[in-house]
Amino acid sequence: MSERHFDYDCVFVGGGLANSLMAYWIKLGNPKLRVLIIEKNDTLGGNHTWSFHEKDLSPKEFKFIEPFVSKKWDGYSVSFPKHQRELQTAYFSVRSEEFNEKVKTVVDVEFSTEVVGVAAHNVTGKGGKQWSSYLVIDGRGFGVCEDQMVGYQKFVGMEVELENPHGLTKPILMDATVEQRDGFRFFYCLPWDQQRLLIEDTRYSDGASIDLVEFREEITKYAQKKGWKIRTIQREEVGALPIPLRAKYLPSNKGVLEAWVPRLVPCVGVRGGFFHSTTGYSLPDAARVVAQLVNLDLKYEVVFPAVVKLAKATARRQWFFRLLNRMVFQGSEPKNRYKILEFFYRMPRGLIGRFYAGKMWPTDYIRIFLGAPPIKIRSALNCILHNRERVSA
Ligand SMILES: Cc1cc2nc3c(=O)[nH]c(=O)nc-3n(C[C@H](O)[C@H](O)[C@H](O)COP(=O)(O)OP(=O)(O)OC[C@H]3O[C@@H](n4cnc5c(N)ncnc54)[C@H](O)[C@@H]3O)c2cc1C
Repeated sequence: MSERHFDYDCVFVGGGLANSLMAYWIKLGNPKLRVLIIEKNDTLGGNHTWSFHEKDLSPKEFKFIEPFVSKKWDGYSVSFPKHQRELQTAYFSVRSEEFNEKVKTVVDVEFSTEVVGVAAHNVTGKGGKQWSSYLVIDGRGFGVCEDQMVGYQKFVGMEVELENPHGLTKPILMDATVEQRDGFRFFYCLPWDQQRLLIEDTRYSDGASIDLVEFREEITKYAQKKGWKIRTIQREEVGALPIPLRAKYLPSNKGVLEAWVPRLVPCVGVRGGFFHSTTGYSLPDAARVVAQLVNLDLKYEVVFPAVVKLAKATARRQWFFRLLNRMVFQGSEPKNRYKILEFFYRMPRGLIGRFYAGKMWPTDYIRIFLGAPPIKIRSALNCILHNRERVSA
């Protein structure tokens, strides 16, 4: 880097999963670079458990996540009213507490600092403080969405210590045998050790609102039904992720300053559209983006077009998932949404793996449609024909 009139070589706005991962590997590879993360809270990565399937990442991409993996299981199970299945596919989790500890020993961070202005070479904090940088990367999480263009995946997870061993050796990825309410609903359980579990109530709903009290009661009832006696609640995580129904789901009002940022500044993580449109998972895309960018010349002129190109490719690749989302949210009654997933989990293991990895083959689409998904033909046609979309080139 020859230009030394900037305070930093690279400033990352927002210390979430995507930005922290990238900052970590850039700094590790180039210790002399002046790299800074600016984060409004007092930890990196917030309060999350990020999970992924073994086929989601190539061996090269996996290397960027491996040091952060907190737990690996050899398989998982799913349960629906008329179908149960165990899949022998490895499943991994990264816990944000450990991620935070590792990243902050390598990268400089300004915690408790809210950013109010982001430009190509300049960042402004709430109190008026400014940082200039050769390259600015925006990873502030989800921006504001057009409500009618998205559904929501919302969930509350409770990490609990039980009185007795729970008996699970593998995660329950979806237990949709529970009462369907507020859309497609299932429980998700990660067994950390014999007595410690993350239990999550997840719903694919039309709105983002979360009644915390009701979710907590439901989780407690689910544990009771399973015969799990909760000794302590150790942690809670809450989220409502926008699930895009169309490629253009962000407000495009150019009069709003925020809408200009992605046109001028490289945006990564969910803010840049780097997530799986149906599952909401963003860890695999975060690793993919790092793998693509980490060895580039960290110049704005190089990184910005590379990120835009990747974002467009990611959006194009996901047309099928947005169609599937429309089928779930617009083509099915809320109480019947689970049937689409029940149908999907009857598919071959390889196809399921490619679905999660977001890398489906053309024959997979044919296989799914020939399998006659449980949706009325008229509704399916409506989802296909009346929601035609284009990703601008
Ligand atoms: C509870 C939960 C569980 C999830 N589980 C999974 C999972 O299992 N697997 C998976 O792949 N994905 C999962 N996701 C989805 C997705 O991976 C996460 O949302 C992920 O954290 C997104 O990463 P990100 O870096 O894009 O944004 P975030 O991790 O949300 O990071 C954004 C960061 O920017 C900071 N910030 C925002 N505004 C400002 C500002 N003005 N100034 C300074 N800092 C700012 C925030 O405080 C935050 O730290 C989960 C999401 C949630 C909410």
